[in-house]
This record gives sequence, C-alpha cells and structure tokens, in this order.
Amino acid sequence: MSLLPRPAPRPVHKFGGASLTDGPAVRRVGALLAERVADCPVAVVSAVEGVTSALDRVAHAAAEGRDELGPVRVRHRSLLAQLELDPEMLNRHFAELATILGAIRSRGVLAAHERDHVLSFGERVSARIVAAHLSARGLRAVPIDAYDLGLQSDSNHGRAKVLAQSAERVRSALARFDGIPVITGFLAADAHGRLTTLGRNGSDLSATLIGEAIGAREVCFWKEVGGVMTADPKLVPNARTLRALSYEEAGELTRHGAGVLHSESVQPLARAGVPGRVLCVRNPSDPGTLVSREGSGAEAVGIACRRNVLLVRIAPDSADVRASVSAALARLGLEPLHLGAADGALLVVTPSSDELARELLPLGSRISIERDLASVATVGSDSPVLDAALHAAGIDIRARWSDGLLVTRVHLLPAAQLALAARALHAAAFEVAVPPEPAR
Ligand code: ASP
Ligand code: MG
Repeated sequence: MSLLPRPAPRPVHKFGGASLTDGPAVRRVGALLAERVADCPVAVVSAVEGVTSALDRVAHAAAEGRDELGPVRVRHRSLLAQLELDPEMLNRHFAELATILGAIRSRGVLAAHERDHVLSFGERVSARIVAAHLSARGLRAVPIDAYDLGLQSDSNHGRAKVLAQSAERVRSALARFDGIPVITGFLAADAHGRLTTLGRNGSDLSATLIGEAIGAREVCFWKEVGGVMTADPKLVPNARTLRALSYEEAGELTRHGAGVLHSESVQPLARAGVPGRVLCVRNPSDPGTLVSREGSGAEAVGIACRRNVLLVRIAPDSADVRASVSAALARLGLEPLHLGAADGALLVVTPSSDELARELLPLGSRISIERDLASVATVGSDSPVLDAALHAAGIDIRARWSDGLLVTRVHLLPAAQLALAARALHAAAFEVAVPPEPAR
C-alpha cells in the first residue's frame, strides 16, 4: 500500500473557438488558467473561431484545383502578432498543411481521411498558440495532440467514435505531465494512425471523454454566454439561465438541438459522475450552470430548437415503403430524429437532406415530403397547455409527439414560424403569470 497521498483530481477546462478568436480573447483564457494553476488544470481547446469551416472550404477548393490557404495563414499570423509570440512558430504546421493540399490539388479529389487531416490543423495550431501564450506568462504548459495522448477512434471520418480502451491510455499519459497540458479538442486517430474528427463542435465531447478518463474534479465549458438557458436567447428574449441541471436534463436538451453543448458530451460526465459547469469567459465569477446528478427541481426544464428538419410521411404505412426509406437513410448515413405513427401514417423525421429527397423520388405518391421545418422540444413537460399556446399563436403544427427519458413534447412546424413558436411555448411553460394580489 502506498503511503503517498493520492493526488487531487484535476479539473478540465474547455475553451471553444469564440473564446480564442483574437489576442484579447486568448489573454482572457491565459488569465483564467493562471488564476487556477494551483488546481493543476487540464485545458482542451477548439480551433480559433471560424477556422474549421475555413479549412473545410480550403480542402474543397484544393480538390477543384485552387489554393485558398492564404487567409487562414494570415489569420494565425495576426493572432501570433497580437500575442507577441514568435511569428515563425507555426511554419512547420503550415508547411505540412500546404503539402497535403498540394497532393489534393494534383489528384483533384478529396478523400474523407484527407479532409479530416486538413481540419486537424485548426486545433493543432490553436493548442500551440495557447500553450505558447501560457509559457510567455511564465506558466509550464505543453501542447498535446489528442491522438498522441491515446484518443483512438473508429475510422468513420468526419464523425468518428472514440473507442472505450482510450481511457486508460489517456489517464496514464496525462499522469506524466505536471504542467498545464493544452490538448486539441475534436481530434483522434484510428487504428492505422489516420487522423479523425469527432463531428462539428466535437471539442466538448473531447473534454468530457478526457474528464471521464482521468476522473476529473469537474469539466468547465467556457463560453461567450455563460450557462444553459431555458431557450436560445436569440429566439426568446425572456430566456433565463438554468443554475442546475441533471445529466438527464442536460442530455435531453442537447439531444433535441440545444446548441450550448455537443449532443453526446453529457454521457461521459454521467458515466463517470463528473460534474460539468457551463461558464462565461467574460464573467468568470458568475456561477453559470452546474450539470450533475442533482436536477433542476423544476418540472419543465427548457426549450430546445432544431432548424433544417425534414418530414417524410408514409401513408398508408406499408412494410415495403418503410424498407425503401430505411435503405435510403442507411445509404446516406442519416439517423432519423424521430419515427412515429400518426393517423395511420408513419412519420420519419430527419435532418434536412436534398439527397434523401432525391433518393425517395421513385416512391412517388406513396410518401409525402415536407421541407423547411423546425422542431421545438419542451423538455420536462407535455402539458396540453403547450399545444393550446401554439394554436393561440397561429402556429401551423405539422406533427407532434411526446418522447424521451423525461417527458418531452416535440412540435414540428414551418421554420419561418420558429421564433414565434419558441416564444409562445416559453411563455406558456416558463412565464406563467403570478396571479395579481387581491385588492384590499
Ligand atoms: N473546431 C471544431 C468545429 O468548429 C470543433 C469545435 O469547435 O468544437 O466544429
Ligand atoms: Mg469550433
């Protein structure tokens, strides 16, 4: 038996691209980590805001014979200048990226594994920048590529799944670092050593997988707006911050499209019993939202919206049409968001896809397709008040159902009515008027 005290669990701090967008933003991140250095933090970073999408365009342009890397290089150069870091420090990475792009240009095609390789540079360079900035502040910090840490995935490029056996490797590799490891989010490698990406906004998931692997004290997601809210404040001005959510509540909100966290990032926290915190980089003392075993205590939790939804109605429901629709979904790698019966028809709800609409054309009038829809899920409630509120607001409800681990009412409606519907549901579920005081 060892007589040495067990080291205290380390916190994981995850910073998204918006929190690294320019020099002042990276300095804010540096200050946050410097204040917490006594806790031995582990940092996980995304690419600088907009860079993943830019690299995606660069990769596709290369396949069409164009070299569009310039602006991405300039963006990082300017960030280095703003932070007074060595302007040459990313040259090796950009030279490697230019070589890969050259190969794509000369062959004129972009393979899925090459696209992932190109995208990987976003996180690889942001981790170098953050670590160099921390070092310049006098902190011990090391940039680490997640695949070098042992994060191994399947070979499903673009939306790879991390394999469970990664946890032990990550845990023992991290135990060897005593400075601040600055780890690339979003990335892993498959069994052949090819780089993979975990799906857009996957850095949240990287942070929780690492948190689970090391039994972190907590995983803090630092955002521009702190906290998970009862609804997207851009749609619902009266939305308010939720102070506490259970893993199930947070999981349901993200599963139905609440964009504040990646939809699969809650499960690793729940498995490991590691608390998550959604905090604001601009106001670090604000408590934000705590995600843990304890719930919100409220019945209705929040409203989650999803745009770009497509509804396929199979009417009358028949086994052979079902089989054709399932086969088309499988060919395109699309997972239905919902399957359900309504008035003798089968409803298949999926993310919008022109390819799917095309593949289903031969089914003619045996199906009908509605596009440009949005879904609004009221997590924690399926009160009839919700339907009534939508009717009163004149919303053209195209389908509705209840589902989920927690009771959740989902409404499908024209995308153009999304804000109106979200406000009506929020008012009905979260802004119940307090009865006026009786006159004395
Ligand atoms: N940089 C990646 C993206 O933009 C991953 C992330 O931001 O979490 O999708
Ligand atoms: Mg990003």
